[in-house]
Amino acid sequence: MLQFFKRKQENNTKENFTFESKINKRSYHVSNKTNERRTTKINLANNAGFCLGIRRAIAIINDLIKAKQKPVMFGPVAHNKILNNKLKLCGVRIAKSLNEIKKDETLVIRAHGVTSKNMEEISKLKINFEDATCPFVKKIHNILKNLNEEIVFIAGNKQHPEIIGLVGNCNRLSYVFKNKLELENILNKNVKLYKKNIILVAQTTFSIDEWKKCVKVLSKRIKNVRVIDTICSTTRERQQEAKKISSISDVAFVVGDAESANTMRLYEISKKHCETYLVKSSREINEKMIKSRKAVGLLSGASTPKYIVDEILNVIKNL
Ligand code: SF4
Repeated sequence: MLQFFKRKQENNTKENFTFESKINKRSYHVSNKTNERRTTKINLANNAGFCLGIRRAIAIINDLIKAKQKPVMFGPVAHNKILNNKLKLCGVRIAKSLNEIKKDETLVIRAHGVTSKNMEEISKLKINFEDATCPFVKKIHNILKNLNEEIVFIAGNKQHPEIIGLVGNCNRLSYVFKNKLELENILNKNVKLYKKNIILVAQTTFSIDEWKKCVKVLSKRIKNVRVIDTICSTTRERQQEAKKISSISDVAFVVGDAESANTMRLYEISKKHCETYLVKSSREINEKMIKSRKAVGLLSGASTPKYIVDEILNVIKNL
């Protein structure tokens, strides 16, 4: 079972595992089985597979498994069922509450981060822990810890664990909105905010286009607003790639779960430019989907293991 987590021997960085891809080529031309003259070009995203934050979290889990330190999570490591099932098979338990974590287990704080209240409880209960909070998320926590008299505006999804962690840590009045419309509603209902000092940050996986719209609205209506773009570099690159690849493809596949915020962003971007399918595994791909297509795009969310993308790539090549 540990095979799944075995790192590449030739590379010492914590982020590389055997289930990461060895395929580097980004564009393929494949002839179809019947040897007709038609060929299909496959446009594979550069950023397919895990992002830095997820790779780092898995490296920490991997080390704990090897040291027989029984890793336990407080919530799934990422929004990807295949990955979470594999981790479960490797003995990674998900605790429903911090209270039920045993003395011989080590809690891995996931990449999304936790609230300060959670951290106090972890310390009170003397739980062994490893902090796998993504550095990009940590950066926002630090920004929100060092504020003057500012009211916090966060562009993101209220229910997402990253946002729950940020709101739970900033310890002051905060507003969360998922788009320009929700932001406008907040401003219309709270006219007193116009004279306040406001800081605006974003969920790391927020839509770049929606962020630009929100910045425009807030900067126009609030005099004293400090804008800090906290969308992470992986999200930025993947969204830009999604736009580019879907614009040059007839059909695109976005690999990942519907529960994954960053995956859904890629899906939303891609479907604006070409027919797009959200798929979890190669089993969902069939010939009909790519029949008569000259160019097929292949993208993945940040929590999708690269080997799933490779499996899909092979299926498309062989259809
Ligand atoms: S999507 Fe960005 S912020 Fe989230 S874990 Fe990955 S690198 Fe970190």
